[in-house]
Amino acid sequence: MAQQIRVELRPDVERLTAQDARPGLGVVLVGDHPASAVYVSSKTAACDELGIHHETRRLSPRATTEDVVAVVDDYNRRGDIHGILVQLPLPPQVDAVRVLDAVDPAKDVDGFHPDNVGRLVQKRPRFVPCTPAGIMELLQRHDIEVAGKRAVVIGRSDIVGKPMALLLMHANATVTVCHSRTSNLAGVAREADILVAAIGRPGLVRADFVKPGAVVVDVGMNTVEDPALAADLLLPSRLPGFEKRGSALVGDVHAPSVTPVAGALTPVPGGVGPLTIALLLKNTVRAAASVT
Ligand code: NAD
Repeated sequence: MAQQIRVELRPDVERLTAQDARPGLGVVLVGDHPASAVYVSSKTAACDELGIHHETRRLSPRATTEDVVAVVDDYNRRGDIHGILVQLPLPPQVDAVRVLDAVDPAKDVDGFHPDNVGRLVQKRPRFVPCTPAGIMELLQRHDIEVAGKRAVVIGRSDIVGKPMALLLMHANATVTVCHSRTSNLAGVAREADILVAAIGRPGLVRADFVKPGAVVVDVGMNTVEDPALAADLLLPSRLPGFEKRGSALVGDVHAPSVTPVAGALTPVPGGVGPLTIALLLKNTVRAAASVT
């Protein structure tokens, strides 16, 4: 599906490029967080594949808020940069709120600027955060009925949980948001026809969280290195890969126990992650098209 979205974007990229308005993404990467570097290179490789211009400004782990805002300001001014991505997390000395507020809302392809958050709340979205937007596309393209269904979102972050809940509500689901202080989490989750796990805790969602036949979307991306944990969390087909590499990516859903119960379950890796990147490309192309 992620690949399909990219294929659909190609004519727009070609048209914009022919009009001298090739879509451009400006990335800011601060510090040497290894996972962040991997995420940025996946995103820029996807831009390359589609012919989107991109550039990455790498700043030292000691960069100040002003240093990061200066890069954002430069991207804001540039006509050839239509989308700006500030890779999170930022180091603790950098004020992430000030940095994200500095992004021109018309270039805020991650949808984190308060203008865009407010527009989403009011159901007149401009840019919607890529992960929840990708999940809505996933549900639509699989003809999964949302209206009238019970949806439970576990996680209330600004990046995933909150916008996910808003999008499901706007699609007429009845939505419950759970978090670290929710009591009887498994019982609440079990009411869901559509269950979205965006927690950051490997394998937390087990079979007793899932109503038989429910659609389960696993947003979590966690690395496991402990062999005993891997033996518990991984589907047997993934164990040889773990033994070879010594680590594996797992979601927040315990795939071995949930797979037989759920009606559908997104895989990790290869599920929500690639969709998120596809939606970033889509937002960038839209940003370029809107100024042309
Ligand atoms: P976050 O840390 O900002 O938020 C986690 C949320 O989970 C919080 O709201 C917290 O209340 C809740 N939570 C924590 N422990 C809990 C518990 N024991 N029970 C119930 N709720 C609990 O994380 P985030 O940025 O929303 O990301 C969540 C996960 O999704 C992470 O694994 C992250 O790596 C992954 N992620 C994946 C993608 C992707 O493209 N696939 C994109 C963004 C985030």
